[in-house]
Amino acid sequence: MPERYDIAIVGGGPAGLAAALYASRAKLRTVILERQAFGGQVALTGVIENYPGYPSVAGSDLAQKMHDCSMRFGATELIADLTAIRPVPSGSFALETSVGLLEARAVIVATGSRHRELGVPGEARLRNQGVSYCAVCDGPFYEGVEIVVVGGGDSALQEAVFLTEYASKVTVVHRRHEFRASVEVQRMARNNSKVRFALGQVVQEICGQDGVENVVLREVATGQVETIPAEGIFIYVGMEPSTSFLRGLIQLNSEGFIPTDGRMRTILPGLFAAGDVREKTVRQIATACGEGVEAALAAQEYLKGQ
Ligand SMILES: Cc1cc2nc3c(=O)[nH]c(=O)nc-3n(C[C@H](O)[C@H](O)[C@H](O)COP(=O)(O)OP(=O)(O)OC[C@H]3O[C@@H](n4cnc5c(N)ncnc54)[C@H](O)[C@@H]3O)c2cc1C
Repeated sequence: MPERYDIAIVGGGPAGLAAALYASRAKLRTVILERQAFGGQVALTGVIENYPGYPSVAGSDLAQKMHDCSMRFGATELIADLTAIRPVPSGSFALETSVGLLEARAVIVATGSRHRELGVPGEARLRNQGVSYCAVCDGPFYEGVEIVVVGGGDSALQEAVFLTEYASKVTVVHRRHEFRASVEVQRMARNNSKVRFALGQVVQEICGQDGVENVVLREVATGQVETIPAEGIFIYVGMEPSTSFLRGLIQLNSEGFIPTDGRMRTILPGLFAAGDVREKTVRQIATACGEGVEAALAAQEYLKGQ
């Protein structure tokens, strides 16, 4: 017989941990599944300066505190990879995981999303040392210096404009000569005197000893190489939500994110989603926590009404 829970939370990042705190404190039989390390992306972040209550905190410290705080009301934690969810006739959900089957009356999906990487030399080595995927998080570290933004969609151009609040010059590198970004966003970027464009170019390498110093660009048409000075590089070439286990269960949006209403309810009763895995615009620690709380309270209401 599979182990049975009131609520299964999938993903041990800020959204999942906040949900676990509220669900277990409400005395619901709660399990939280995490396939790698509790804390999610927070555990992998260098320094965080925009989480209320902490003027400046190492990501690993905040992740540990969130985990310890959320687990103190008795939620069961499981290191396991969720591979599929299916409804069962009792009205519950069966969860297939790398460590076996379990059942829950409600499920909160908080599996986050990953920024796509360029896969070029220097990117992994200099991550958090000049290579960033989040302008809101890291922009203030680049006051008065030259930086590069990679990408041609709304996110890339919007963040390039945002980063001109700090950087002295922002070079937008895009492999095509046309942008996917909306006309209005393009206009904002083109009208900003600090934004320069390197179009028809790709990043070949990110260079530097202990931090980013230069970025090597290659022209797509000619193969010609140019090195430009930059102390930071912000990469916006798309995001990949972790939702493959939901295929066939609910309709995801065109990029694979989960649509919900304001109470984090999906179209399927009993199935909730919170944090970066949701279809939304702002992806931050504080918003993920808030959505985890909302999802846990909505799930609690759902269980009462069952
Ligand atoms: C480099 C970087 C720096 C950032 N800096 C900041 C910052 O300074 N301030 C800020 O507010 N935000 C920052 N962010 C954004 C912030 O980290 C995210 O918005 C937040 O972590 C989202 O929380 P989440 O719980 O939704 O998802 P995540 O943190 O991504 O957690 C999801 C968890 O689910 C697990 N998981 C995924 N699939 C499965 C599965 N099938 N089975 C089991 N477990 C699974 C993952 O292993 C992961 O631990 C940063 C992000 C990055 C990448």
